[in-house]
Amino acid sequence: MNEYKTLEQKRKFYDGKEWKRIREVVKERDNYECQECKRNGSVSIDTNEYSERAKRKKIQLVVHHIKELEHHPVLALDIDNLETVCVACHNKEHGRAFELNVNKWQGDERW
Ligand SMILES: [Zn+2]
Ligand SMILES: [Zn+2]
Repeated sequence: MNEYKTLEQKRKFYDGKEWKRIREVVKERDNYECQECKRNGSVSIDTNEYSERAKRKKIQLVVHHIKELEHHPVLALDIDNLETVCVACHNKEHGRAFELNVNKWQGDERW
């Protein structure tokens, strides 16, 4: 079984073909919309990263592991464990730990 505990292991994973493929599948499933913004009510933002509006707004989407990769390696490529969120919500989901360690996060799911 694969493990994703070290930065090196994660780097390899996020750089891999499988991740890049599934990431696109998840974004498409979620209509290129931030699922968290959606849950939080009526805020309807255009997060289609290919639309002109989104480009102008520079919205960045991240495919997020609901159950963390590090602790649930089996679910690494499980589409039910993945969701599309915007960078702002992604920061919130990961809470303070990530705010304190922005650099670590930037090298992670953002790819
Ligand atoms: Zn959001
Ligand atoms: Zn995440």
